[in-house]
Amino acid sequence: MTTKEQTYYRAVRQTVSALAGAASLKEAFDVIVRRTSRAMKARASLMLLDFTGKKLAHVAYWGLPRAYVQKGMVDVDRSLAEVVTGAPVAIVDAASDARAQYPSLAGKFGIASILGVPVQLNGAAAGCIRIYTRQRQEFDHSDIDFALTMARLAAMAIELKPQRHAGEPVPAGPPLRQARSVTFAHPSEEEFVRILDFYNIEWVYEPRSFPLKWEGDRIVEMFTPDFYLPGLDLYVELTTLRQKLVTEKNRKLRRLRELYPDIKITLLYRKDFERLLAKYGVGALSQARGRGVQGVLYSSAEIQSRVRELAGAISQDYAGRHPVMVGVLRGVFCFLADLVRQMSIPVEIEFMAISYYGGNSSAVKITKDVDVSLAGRDVIMVEDIVDTGLTLNYMLNYLQAKDPSSLKVCTLLDKRARRIASVPLDYTGFKAPDEFVVGYGLDYRGEYRNLPFIGVLGPETSAGQERSQEEVASQ
Ligand code: IMP
Repeated sequence: MTTKEQTYYRAVRQTVSALAGAASLKEAFDVIVRRTSRAMKARASLMLLDFTGKKLAHVAYWGLPRAYVQKGMVDVDRSLAEVVTGAPVAIVDAASDARAQYPSLAGKFGIASILGVPVQLNGAAAGCIRIYTRQRQEFDHSDIDFALTMARLAAMAIELKPQRHAGEPVPAGPPLRQARSVTFAHPSEEEFVRILDFYNIEWVYEPRSFPLKWEGDRIVEMFTPDFYLPGLDLYVELTTLRQKLVTEKNRKLRRLRELYPDIKITLLYRKDFERLLAKYGVGALSQARGRGVQGVLYSSAEIQSRVRELAGAISQDYAGRHPVMVGVLRGVFCFLADLVRQMSIPVEIEFMAISYYGGNSSAVKITKDVDVSLAGRDVIMVEDIVDTGLTLNYMLNYLQAKDPSSLKVCTLLDKRARRIASVPLDYTGFKAPDEFVVGYGLDYRGEYRNLPFIGVLGPETSAGQERSQEEVASQ
């Protein structure tokens, strides 16, 4: 068996065992698409026919930019023929092949070749799995066999859960969630979902229950996390309860981690959650007045010395190359300006701007994009601070679709306590404590960006007790 075939074999095995635990058809689809994508080192999607039988809708996808998936439903007649003929179809050059319905988009999103295999239910067309590669690729027997096997698994998942599919039109677009009528147990869960939707993070509510304790064959204790985020392979439990109940929840979580060591789960406490909302300018804490800067966390000298070290490390790693440094406005402006002035290699600088949660839009909007093509370039994304990781996760997916030859991340601050998306950080200035920090570009409601140091925003105080910027700076 070749290494590639071994990878495919492992992926099928892992998919089969993951499917056994999938709590919903959506979760099953996500697993199939994710495993297909990883094994084939390409982006992947699963599309199903809608009730007219003439249009295909994306029901799960991995690695594809939202803009590509939302291009609308795909006409079966004008698209790859795999759905109609029931046979795999490979398109080596997607940008010029008439069978690809959106060739210009394929070019824009760096899709070089596409493999489509049918999903069939009882011999009839139901949809397809498509694999999109960045580099031009001829697909061989093992690629096609693997994709067909994954398509069969998708069909089996549908057959085993007929009640979820029976005659229903498949909702269009990625957010299957829009079609779900979920009743949340607590308003904070609904707010959390709005944040996830904003950052285009797929979620499943109360995805599955984990048995924690047995008496003989009988399960006597279970734990059902509030959410599963398939794209991040992470369970999230929100806790807005009193301390006594939190202690009990913590005990259950410890037990769950012992029994299911492969499960990734994070607990967001009420305090965390309120701070998260406040950061976005919503929720009760965001109304807090007169907070003031409490103390210096990193002095100007400490920052400059660390920035010099980072610049040295990047210059060394990229010696002989000419990277593009991409900063997301506005928090990064001080850091990026200092960083590039300490670097000893030529660099290009680009800025992007995005909308933040709490504004008018219900999803992230790129309000300013880079002005150059990043295809084939070495890109370093520069961040001021990574907190939940949701912004960076979104940005990395977005930039990856521009087909850079490499994409690394440099952040001044890494605040891990409430990380939701585990994003790769290649260069980190400081590991920041779980405090709201301001200064050196970072703001609180538009203020404090011009402080030369990084300070901690104090607890709520009455306006009179607030310490002035000068007072703190003179410490
Ligand atoms: P994330 O999406 O939660 O990782 O948050 C990233 C963005 O939130 C950053 O780029 C900042 O704009 C903002 N942010 C997060 N934590 C802080 C903080 O402590 N002070 C100021 N801004 C913050």
